[in-house]
Amino acid sequence: MKQFQYLRAASQQEALTAIAKPGTKIIAGGTNLVDLMKRGVTAPDKLVDITHLPLKGIVATKTGLHIGALALNSVVSENSLVVQKQPLLAMALKAGASPQLRNMATVGGNMMQCTRCTYFYDTTMPCNKREPGTGCGAMEGYNRMHAIFGASDHCIAVHPSDMCVGLAALDAVVIVTGKKGERRIPMTEFHRLPGDHPETDNTLAPGELILGVEIPDNHFAKNSYYLKVRDRQSYAFALVSVAAALEISGGTIKQARLAMGGVAHKPWRLFEAEKALVGKAATEENFKHAAEIATQGAKAYEYNAFKLRLAPASIAEALKHAAGMA
Ligand code: SF4
Repeated sequence: MKQFQYLRAASQQEALTAIAKPGTKIIAGGTNLVDLMKRGVTAPDKLVDITHLPLKGIVATKTGLHIGALALNSVVSENSLVVQKQPLLAMALKAGASPQLRNMATVGGNMMQCTRCTYFYDTTMPCNKREPGTGCGAMEGYNRMHAIFGASDHCIAVHPSDMCVGLAALDAVVIVTGKKGERRIPMTEFHRLPGDHPETDNTLAPGELILGVEIPDNHFAKNSYYLKVRDRQSYAFALVSVAAALEISGGTIKQARLAMGGVAHKPWRLFEAEKALVGKAATEENFKHAAEIATQGAKAYEYNAFKLRLAPASIAEALKHAAGMA
């Protein structure tokens, strides 16, 4: 591993000043970054440890719930406000990684984690994300875990987070700060599709720091569910996952939110399927119809064609659970 400098930031301003310099990376839980450094995928000149900044709070606001960027995944998943007001987020967090990793990983770090495409981690293989212009090892390789939505000719990787899928479904907003001051980024726009620049995972500007995330109040607590389909029951990334949230009154769906993981370079919100559900009865038939709409336009590669069937089946199943029918 390349030698690097280490700075423990004592204040937000000290962190912002330090990360403004090229070659600098932020470290908090380090559950992904340290692996990337050990494997030579990334080699920063300097790490800025932000774990001493006061960004761990979880508080109810007038309009929703604010969760600090340094709140641990395990703490958020057990927090009484989160469990009561946003149980979908608690479920998504508990589906992620392992208890040991959730005890170290932070909310901000979870958003910033890199794809788990094996070719990205193997520095002997071509990868446009790791080294732009070298090609994509997965395109003609073993692409079982890869995207069925929004991929490009340069990259077919998927975003690995469960938490972010839940946050995308719940219309969360990411609060960041940098030299131009604070700004708010909808969770659905925080991560980006690969396009011609798969090396860029998100819309965070250079030198910006994540402060936290806000989830607006909603009426989904009673009818929400996070379904994760994976090869093992724990410590495995999603083949596909579905965050489903419904507001049901008298058997009719008033509002619907759906997002998927394991299928795209970002949490994949299913807006058309949501529209198809509103005003309809909460029935298995309507859930299957929405699932068909959601997966129109999906494209598979040699080893992940099973996702074309798994995705709609998982959407319908998640909706059944959310509606209390399973
Ligand atoms: Fe790299 Fe993306 Fe191709 Fe994986 S899918 S090898 S991350 S370019």
